[in-house]
Amino acid sequence: MLRQWTEVLGPAKALALLLAAALLAAVAVSQLLISLLGFGDRVAAALCAGLSALLLAALLGRVLLGLLAQLEQSTLQLKRFSSTDMLTGIVNRRAFLGLIEREWALARRYETTCAMVMIDLDHFKRINENFGHRCGDMLLRQIAEASSETLRQGDVLARFGGEEFGLFLPHTDPLGALDVAERIRERVERLDFCWNGHVIPVSVSLGVAALQADHHSLDQFVNAAEDALHMAKADGRNCVRVGDGLMPGRAAELRA
Ligand code: GH3
Ligand code: MG
Ligand code: MG
Repeated sequence: MLRQWTEVLGPAKALALLLAAALLAAVAVSQLLISLLGFGDRVAAALCAGLSALLLAALLGRVLLGLLAQLEQSTLQLKRFSSTDMLTGIVNRRAFLGLIEREWALARRYETTCAMVMIDLDHFKRINENFGHRCGDMLLRQIAEASSETLRQGDVLARFGGEEFGLFLPHTDPLGALDVAERIRERVERLDFCWNGHVIPVSVSLGVAALQADHHSLDQFVNAAEDALHMAKADGRNCVRVGDGLMPGRAAELRA
């Protein structure tokens, strides 16, 4: 109701009206107290006025504290909504980049390892076309769940948009990252995804990049994983590929 008044009258008028109402209420309560006491000398009047002011302050305080709690809850909810992908419940790309930036900078500064994995569903468009978007949405949720199951504490999985997911692995060397990516690929392949009685074969392609000296920005690091993902797509999908120059010999061997 207060909000409606403020909208209609403007904040200054609404506040003046509220103060006038509080004053009237205080006078009415004082009068009531005085008439209950049966006498009205100056001391009694002052006591009654003080008591009514106290009652009103307690009432308004309670309302204000309630409003503050509501505001805090709404702010938290807003924060969660702005950083979460509503379909899958995992963080979105923007929040992901914010979360990993510090870890990435520390890894660069202290020359420790970290890795980035990009995951993309294979032929997802066909699944949407053949079985509908609700089926596609359910699959996206299951992919997020299946990928999360393979992760350690500290790893960050995000929906980058569409049917693409990003995964940051702190303190992980290239071979460790390949292991994680391969585990996700296998887990998705064994998903047994069912829709209206149809078992739909599902697979993902994954690109892995480990932090290197020439990744001068977070974008370059993420792009390296994207490039590796494109290699996986070009190599026939349902496979893991690593960025060029990551591990001399090993990358070529993996692509063979
Ligand atoms: P590729 O194997 O090369 O990755 O092929 P693809 O079909 O997976 O990729 P493409 O980029 O051609 O199509 C992606 C599709 O993902 C198109 C779009 O309609 C669908 N998509 C994007 N976001 C959502 C979503 O939130 N829900 C559903 N159901 N579909 C989505
Ligand atoms: Mg795809
Ligand atoms: Mg895609």
